Amino acid sequence: MGKGQSPMSTNPPLPAPLPHHLDQWAKAYEEDPALHTQFPITLPNAAVVPGIACICARCGKPVDREMVHGRVFWSLPTVATTEATGYCKPCQVITRINCRFRPRGDDFQVEWFSKDNLWRTQVMVPPSPWQKFVKRFKAAIAMANRRRR
Ligand SMILES: [Zn+2]
Repeated sequence: MGKGQSPMSTNPPLPAPLPHHLDQWAKAYEEDPALHTQFPITLPNAAVVPGIACICARCGKPVDREMVHGRVFWSLPTVATTEATGYCKPCQVITRINCRFRPRGDDFQVEWFSKDNLWRTQVMVPPSPWQKFVKRFKAAIAMANRRRR
């Protein structure tokens, strides 16, 4: 990966998520640890996945890794799946990550919903209940921070 080059490209924005999705994501953010604490992971072929950046849907900058919460689980014996939610403070925008790491030869490939092996983020357009959700999301972050201290 070259310097100054984003580790991921982004998909065009998805349609606005449904309010119950936002609720689920806020809840997951509250419950899940910072994603970076769960990396690196080692795949069955000994390939090491160092981690994944969450690129803000709005400003295109990497989201502060402490603000990316999520989990890694084994969806298949050889495939690790990551689901995470990142919150870009300056933009107040939530970016959702959902991808899989699959062994390929001695290395690994990253799979998003598209099948081109590019790193992609799932991006959302602020819907009308957005401000309400951002409020809730901030409260969740405050709660998580309080718990850590
Ligand atoms: Zn941003």
